[in-house]
Amino acid sequence: MSAIVAIVGRPNVGKSTFFNRMIQRREAIVDAVSGVTRDRHYGKSDWNGKEFSLIDTGGYVLGSEDIFEKEIDKQVELAIDEADAIIFMVDVETGLTGMDEDVAKLLRRSAKPVFLAVNKVDNAQRNEDAVEFYALGLGDYYSLSSINGSGTGELLDDLVKVLPEFGDTEDQLPRFAVVGRPNAGKSSFINALIGEDRYIVTDIAGTTRDSIDTKYNRFGFEFNLVDTAGIRRKAKVKEDLEFYSVMRAVRAIENSDVCLLLLDATRGFDGQVENIFWLAQRNNKGIVILVNKWDLVEDKETNTIKHYTQKIKDAIEPFTDVPIIFMSVLTKQRIYKAIETAVAVYGNRSKKIPTRKFNDVMLPIIESYPPPAYKGKFVKIKFCTQLPTPYPQFAFFCNLPQYVREPYKRYLENKIREEFNFTGVPITIFMRKK
Ligand code: GDP
Ligand code: GDP
Repeated sequence: MSAIVAIVGRPNVGKSTFFNRMIQRREAIVDAVSGVTRDRHYGKSDWNGKEFSLIDTGGYVLGSEDIFEKEIDKQVELAIDEADAIIFMVDVETGLTGMDEDVAKLLRRSAKPVFLAVNKVDNAQRNEDAVEFYALGLGDYYSLSSINGSGTGELLDDLVKVLPEFGDTEDQLPRFAVVGRPNAGKSSFINALIGEDRYIVTDIAGTTRDSIDTKYNRFGFEFNLVDTAGIRRKAKVKEDLEFYSVMRAVRAIENSDVCLLLLDATRGFDGQVENIFWLAQRNNKGIVILVNKWDLVEDKETNTIKHYTQKIKDAIEPFTDVPIIFMSVLTKQRIYKAIETAVAVYGNRSKKIPTRKFNDVMLPIIESYPPPAYKGKFVKIKFCTQLPTPYPQFAFFCNLPQYVREPYKRYLENKIREEFNFTGVPITIFMRKK
């Protein structure tokens, strides 16, 4: 898991320009591998070898031109709540505005590290103009130009210094995150799991100030629920902002091994649910899809589940090897099955296939259907192995790794899935030079 950095500020100051610059390099690679369009407001970045997640909060506010001030305040408060550090962006071209002052007021009260970024400082003249932002009372600022990248290095140098380090948690219990859109039934599900208080074994302070894991012993399984504190805290937020749920999902997903993605059966697997799904996939987390409120679906025929399943699979193509469970928290139907499946997915994610066995199975498969010749050259795969990573990654060693195309990698992935059970777990395949 990594620290979370939120970018706040009024519309048009250049938040998304900065954001795109920061995540471009990495996301381009991820997109090429998964073939999936990314959520444009959340991504991974790194600086000086330190990785962090970056959130462009502006992306979650609608009607950015005539935005209500109240809306921005809320966005800033949530960022203060959830992020480890905040980049507050202002615009030297427009100069200091009342809205900037309001945001600064909120930020001054928070204990989180705040980095004031004066953007659009494209030339020396504007560098002088930037001094007016001292008036915000946030101390020194960073002059930068998101468009040409100047000045961003100084900001990032200081930013990564304050980000918390996340070591591996010594606790070996599966860590489950319950995620989904507002009203999918997440709190109800967790309450059903909690049952009576006696099921809670201990409260363990999480790796961050805000996240509290709670250890459960339920249905004969022991596991940690991630970020349940956050979900309980939700009661305080009256309007269920999509932004808030995304932000919390980001945090919970990063902390987890397996994501239990809940959706409301009557609303379906829509774009927002899909975003959360790909978030979990990109983070290499195990995934179980729980279609909740199945009790509300009327006229269930023999094929209803089949059709529903197919619709979801179409949406999550090509990563379709994911368990889908139809449940009802209300009637307690298949709640046990949900947890049992999550435990199985956890097992798949931590599975290590001995190299000898992996070669014995995969090399004959490769021999019977080798990579197609590319530019007249033949690729010979000689050896393969699972890498010693916390989630399944495989390396195939060959003479011309750059000539192995995406379809063949997908073929290898499908064969791995057929031969060894990796249901619910994203797989990465690397071709390496031997
Ligand atoms: P957001 O609403 O805060 O996400 O702002 P955008 O990133 O969409 O940028 C708003 C406008 O400012 C766009 O037209 C950008 O091209 C422009 N912009 C962003 N960064 C800079 C910069 O460093 N210099 C200049 N001159 N323009 C910029
Ligand atoms: P959250 O926002 O995802 O935490 O959702 P909640 O747990 O607050 O649930 C939203 C609403 O859906 C509440 O009124 C719940 O009682 C209701 N709900 C949750 N699970 C079910 C279910 O399986 N069936 C039905 N009919 N209602 C449910």
